[in-house]
Amino acid sequence: MTNHLFDALRAAAPGAEAVFIETADGAAISYGDLLARTAQLAHALASFGVAPGDRVAAQVEKSAQGLMLYLACVRAGAVYLPLNPGYTSAEIDYFLGDAEPAVFVVGPEAERALAPIAARHGARLETLDADGQGSMAAAADGLPTRFDDVARGPDDLAAILYTSGTTGRSKGAMLSHDNLLSNALALKDFWRFTAADRLLHALPLFHTHGLFVATNTALVAGASMILLPKFDADRVMALLPRATTLMGVPTFYVRLAQHPSLTRETTAHMRLFVSGSAPLLAETHRAFEAKTGHRILERYGMTETNMITSNPYEGERIAGAVGFPLPGVSLRVVDPASGSPLGPDEVGMIEVKGPNVFKGYWRMPEKTRAEFRDDGFFVTGDLGRVDQRGYVSIVGRGKDLVISGGYNVYPKEVEAEIDALDGVVESAVIGLAHRDFGEGVTAVVVREAGAAIDEAGVLAALAGRLARYKQPKRVLFVDELPRNAMGKVQKNALRERYADLYA
Ligand code: ATP
Ligand code: MG
Repeated sequence: MTNHLFDALRAAAPGAEAVFIETADGAAISYGDLLARTAQLAHALASFGVAPGDRVAAQVEKSAQGLMLYLACVRAGAVYLPLNPGYTSAEIDYFLGDAEPAVFVVGPEAERALAPIAARHGARLETLDADGQGSMAAAADGLPTRFDDVARGPDDLAAILYTSGTTGRSKGAMLSHDNLLSNALALKDFWRFTAADRLLHALPLFHTHGLFVATNTALVAGASMILLPKFDADRVMALLPRATTLMGVPTFYVRLAQHPSLTRETTAHMRLFVSGSAPLLAETHRAFEAKTGHRILERYGMTETNMITSNPYEGERIAGAVGFPLPGVSLRVVDPASGSPLGPDEVGMIEVKGPNVFKGYWRMPEKTRAEFRDDGFFVTGDLGRVDQRGYVSIVGRGKDLVISGGYNVYPKEVEAEIDALDGVVESAVIGLAHRDFGEGVTAVVVREAGAAIDEAGVLAALAGRLARYKQPKRVLFVDELPRNAMGKVQKNALRERYADLYA
């Protein structure tokens, strides 16, 4: 019997003794341990009556055992459904009602609050804590360390991953065995991962970046990972000497670039720094290179599509660009209204097709239909362009485009000008309802501590640099921009907060 994803992971394992995970406190889990423990957990799931295709939801703190649970689901033919530990009971109620999992694994501290919700949706409740203890672990202990993997083909579902909810309510993306495997293999080759790699893993495990990009790529390379419970600049710097690669969201690199220990010497042995999930500021790219000599490799992807593009491993890594489509992935930029393809450097909607692209939104057939073109391309919702050399750049999300007086204003262009001003940390440009212009371009700016720059100063600086229709009508100052768990700026929240600014 074949299990498309797990067979490939098993085949890539470098040997039973080889280390797969080191935890921050020095404990090690070998590839042999991985096979044995995921077999026990898969037996436990089967004993709960989990059938192929059943969902197994988990809202747990990050741990090696949590990662084993994902792999056990793959082996048991179940569909793994990780949930952000930050979700409230009301949000969990929505997710369980939507996904109807057979089993719901939670942190022991949440057991009492979530038991009635799990019961209402017919899910069996189990616990797993940050140390890997709980009823789920206890049920697996002592069970056989071999398991006949449930037969699963390339198109069978391996996971449902909810999107980050940056632009609205999170949607469940149905990801197949081959969606995950094809992307992991492409990334392993593109980024030159081998069994000699040790990936410093400080990302959450409920999102595509930490769960699939990091973990599956390490697994298909037979590499090892140092698993940190969360990102902490001091701990990352302390563990960096033991790693060869780091994957992070831009916030990681902003913090690391400010860290006194980040030097050429402390990063000399590192092979690769990867950034994604949100735009990396060109300034961060430059600051990091100035201190370390390393050029961060930025890539672009989505929950629905896995990874789409990457800057090259060898060759020029361009700050502000996300690189080339990965092998096997087709990407085009089209006019959002007509769908006709655009030429080099023209800004339009990014559409993608390939083995990486998901099977649709869970129980949202209409939304799924609306986001696919007749020829199978998926409409990403991101605006971007491809330059003469083939480098893709993301200009922003379609939903964030500002249309002022009939003209398109791409927030990123305005943000880049503002961010370059002395005394500015970062900015977010949004469109707010405006009687005369339809939408008024509005800048929300974070100042450096003690900086003197004010609204008039920003406006005066932009006057000579941007066409009049792109210049903000107002500049507002805040202490920090609202961000979600992946460090993404939540422009929705800003639009709500200032909805009446021009009323
Ligand atoms: P939702 O779809 O629920 O609103 P989300 O789109 O933020 O949330 P994810 O799937 O986690 O959920 O994120 C994918 C999005 O992240 C992409 O569509 C893109 O807008 C953004 N993104 C990812 N990598 C990059 C990058 N390197 N540069 C710019 N944007 C990026
Ligand atoms: Mg999205």
